[in-house]
Parts: sequence; C-alpha cells; structure tokens
Amino acid sequence: MVCFCFLVDQRREMQRSKPAAGICSRCGGGASVADMKTATRFCYVPFYWKSWRAIVCTFCGAVLRSYQH
Ligand SMILES: [Zn+2]
Repeated sequence: MVCFCFLVDQRREMQRSKPAAGICSRCGGGASVADMKTATRFCYVPFYWKSWRAIVCTFCGAVLRSYQH
C-alpha cells in the first residue's frame, strides 16, 4: 500500500467558479462556487476523472463544502 501511494496521485482542477456567500474558516477569504475536476493519475498517466461541485475559498483554495455524488 505504501508503494501504491508513490505511484498514484490526484490533480484537482477548477473548471470555473463564481462568487458565493460565505467566508473561509481558515483565512477569512471570500468563498466561491466552483466546478471541480479531479484527475486520478497512475504513474503520471490520468486514468480516472471525476467532476464535482464545491464551495472553495478564492484566497487559499480550501474546500469549504463539497457536493460530491
Ligand atoms: Zn481561505
């Protein structure tokens, strides 16, 4: 399992976002609703994509709430 961690990583991309009500609990920055795309890579080759929506901080990038399904 330890070796597995070195081979697999995830890249998170923000597709688009728009301002939303809310304040980041970590830095106090503004929140925004964003369409996210997570690509899971094995040996740097993407093999799985997942689209999801989340409320993220525009300043530090923290995910405040996610709507995964
Ligand atoms: Zn923040």
